[in-house]
Amino acid sequence: MFNSSILSTFQDQETPFYYYDLALLQETLDVCKQAADRYNFHVHYAMKANFNQKVVEKIKDAGFGADCVSGNEVKQAIEIGFAKDKVVFAGVGKSDREINEALENDIFCFNVESVQELGVINELAAAAGKNAGIALRINPNVDAHTHHNITTGLEENKFGINHWELHDCVEALKELPNITLIGIHFHIGSQITNLSVFKSLCVKVNEIHRWFEERGHSIKILNVGGGLGIDYHQPDEKPVADFEEYFRIFDQFLERKAGQEVHFELGRALVAHSGTLISRVLYVKNGIKKHFLVLDAGMTELMRPALYQAYHKIENISRVEGDVVKYDIVGPICESTDCFGKEVEMPQSFRGDMIAIRSAGAYGEVMASKYNLRDQVKSVYSK
Ligand SMILES: *Cc1c(COP(=O)(O)O)cnc(C)c1O
Repeated sequence: MFNSSILSTFQDQETPFYYYDLALLQETLDVCKQAADRYNFHVHYAMKANFNQKVVEKIKDAGFGADCVSGNEVKQAIEIGFAKDKVVFAGVGKSDREINEALENDIFCFNVESVQELGVINELAAAAGKNAGIALRINPNVDAHTHHNITTGLEENKFGINHWELHDCVEALKELPNITLIGIHFHIGSQITNLSVFKSLCVKVNEIHRWFEERGHSIKILNVGGGLGIDYHQPDEKPVADFEEYFRIFDQFLERKAGQEVHFELGRALVAHSGTLISRVLYVKNGIKKHFLVLDAGMTELMRPALYQAYHKIENISRVEGDVVKYDIVGPICESTDCFGKEVEMPQSFRGDMIAIRSAGAYGEVMASKYNLRDQVKSVYSK
């Protein structure tokens, strides 16, 4: 992936920085869009995965909508040019100010996570003289079989409305004239690589969908969330996720009525592989049992390994040959969890070598922090 012409453009750059391969991003978007269009499925991009302006502009230009989880994401989506009727606002703790701003902007839909929130949105919509479209985020109690810190669809998670609360929701809706139920929404977790999980989700959605229909609520939108995973171990062999199979499963197992729309909210699978964190080796520390490469990037630039023991492929892109050594690859931050990988095999490495931490385009730059009063991480783009 990093041929000599790309490497030469890196040479004069101060590290660390995020490198975005915009051609790979475009290819990923095209494959996803085509696969979704085949079934007339709608995809909203989950902006929290990466709100880098250039990245988001490309996604907007490719025809995706925006799935936002804060008022500022809603604002940025609209500033970047997403049509208001393609902007969705989700999140378990929307503040009054955020709800008011979204109402002012006439966004398409609020994904609502509790009975209490229904009342609050209704009240604020009434005060603003508006009617808000809402979808109920329902916790389907489906295990995503992913890391426990990124599972969201179990009863023990804070997200969504549980099935035993649905009756109360439906009763509450009758008394709330300034909101309109347009959809039901589900999101069970992230980095899901076992696609049979999505089949289980469809079975649950069908069940809950029938429950609404039986009670006379016609549901216009079935929103099945995101969560499609990528192969962090093989960024070069599998640079684009299997969107075809993913959408095919929903086409096969999700029951739909005429005129009903199916919405998806993909984040990671659209952007992860096109981003790489590029860093330089500051120091090589050789211990008795361990060898460390101390990088100029740390958990302040890419938090996933420290936050949920995430794996990223790490390569020395300055050296293709040399005796293989096992290194712990660590950052400069004063935390023991500031470690990108343990016992990583790579050619013997030296101060100044460039290190690529792959597949960092999702939940990378967006989670950067100022801890240790670090500089804001920069971005570099391919042509
Ligand atoms: C984070 C999130 C997504 C996107 O998840 P990915 O795993 O990045 O696809 C979609 N919907 C909701 C509600 C989310 O919170």
